[in-house]
Amino acid sequence: MMQQVKHLINGEWQLGEGQTMIDVVNPANQNVLATQTAASDLQLERAVAAAELAFLQWREVPAPERARLMLNFQHSLKLHHDELGELLAQDTGKTFADAKGDVWRGIEVVEQACGIASQMMGETLENAARGIDCYSYLQPLGVCAGITPFNFPAMIPLWMFPLATACGNSFILKPSEQDPLVPNRIAELFVECGAPKNLLQVLHGGPKQVDALLTHPDIKAVSFVGSAPVAEHIYHTGSQHNKRVQAFAGAKNHMVVMPDANASQVVNALVGASVGAAGQRCMAISVAVLVGDAKALIPQIQMEMKKVRPGVWNDPEAGYGPLISAASKQRVAGLIQQGIEEGAECLLDGRDFRIADLTAADGNWLGPTLFANVTPEMAIYQQEIFGPVLLLMTADSLDDALTVINRNPFGNGCSIFTSSGAAARTFQREVTVGQVGINVPIPVPLPCFSFTGWKGSFFGDLHAYGKQAVRFYTETKTITSRWFDGDVAGAPNMTIQLK
Ligand code: NAD
Repeated sequence: MMQQVKHLINGEWQLGEGQTMIDVVNPANQNVLATQTAASDLQLERAVAAAELAFLQWREVPAPERARLMLNFQHSLKLHHDELGELLAQDTGKTFADAKGDVWRGIEVVEQACGIASQMMGETLENAARGIDCYSYLQPLGVCAGITPFNFPAMIPLWMFPLATACGNSFILKPSEQDPLVPNRIAELFVECGAPKNLLQVLHGGPKQVDALLTHPDIKAVSFVGSAPVAEHIYHTGSQHNKRVQAFAGAKNHMVVMPDANASQVVNALVGASVGAAGQRCMAISVAVLVGDAKALIPQIQMEMKKVRPGVWNDPEAGYGPLISAASKQRVAGLIQQGIEEGAECLLDGRDFRIADLTAADGNWLGPTLFANVTPEMAIYQQEIFGPVLLLMTADSLDDALTVINRNPFGNGCSIFTSSGAAARTFQREVTVGQVGINVPIPVPLPCFSFTGWKGSFFGDLHAYGKQAVRFYTETKTITSRWFDGDVAGAPNMTIQLK
């Protein structure tokens, strides 16, 4: 019997009753792992109503008790780390090490949620005016929703619902329809750890279900991660329906290589950061800007990149796995063709790659692809490719490199490799990108900071995890308080006599 993906509604795992059916496919061999039927309108209404009720009860639970749920959950995720990694690897095609990394980055956010009591403390000012004290509380919003992409099916749901619920909200998760198995397993573990039965709802489906959440009057906030056009739609539709929205979008991340950078560090970092995870990371480096003599590194980059070989999840030699879908592979292959036709120099063409393992012959494989002589007008530069493709550009100076990056509409991540502190400082000050690495290729901030993409990579104000997420998932209430002596009939006069 084919596995059916279930929805978690009001504490019960149930089959979808909607119209759309979607297969969950192993991208390494096209085997169907499970089928899913989207949530019906009625199921969505039931989920929102259950979440509303859960919120009214959960908001009464003290923050240290909510933190204890997160402590249990963190422990459970660690105990199941290998199991989740294996499931994730099969559902996404990621290598086992990469899949475990996906889970681990999520566990780190749950660890942050364990300290929620101190993070939710407000501010106080005694005697703000004569006899008047002021203080503020952070209170939860109500029902929050999260819509997540395929590329980090553990980490990104874990960016959202642990912090939202630790803050006292209830949550509805709508995972990517391409890999819903890990989000479901994570939700099961959350419930097993003692989460109240209707605190977290998991609904499956696509745009129809997302739009129903975005327009539902009882949902107070929406967190989204995915592609740029969808992020913009989510931000505008959610905002028009008076919701607080944070929408994380696509990217085009540049690495500037200065002529004084350490060559082997640059080459290693560049190869891993561009083709790792088949380039399907929102923080992948997809463009290297080689300043001045750094262009002499091109043959070395080409040689090292050529050595990387994609493979199945449990092949310890595999550099990365397949693309998530046949449609994705076709899209990336089309962009490679367009790059060639537009005059970029294709130093490595991954479309030629054939996997040796015949059981995986039908997978969505694409070898490492490298282009030189890329210009900003080319489609391969203008679009987010989201595949194992690295573009090389050249610049005469750091200023010229900064001009290229700052003109790019995206602003998720970037990095500079240099041995000059002055160059690094100029770069970090002047670049209009929200996450900057200095001799670090993929500068994803740890959960005590926040994930701070800029420009077209983010729509909203408060970012994911860290202090900003606590602000996102709470409302500030400020109290101004004055007590009068003897204001209750018969109460003793407690006035302190000042001498
Ligand atoms: P996607 O936009 O196709 O899908 C994301 C989610 O939106 C899914 O749950 C999907 O069901 C839903 N969705 C898709 N089309 C919709 C529509 N028309 N209306 C409403 N909902 C819709 O993204 P993806 O392909 O799953 O993920 C890859 C993208 O995510 C890349 O662009 C990547 O850069 C981006 N991403 C960004 C970050 C970040 O932090 N900035 C992190 C990870 C991924």
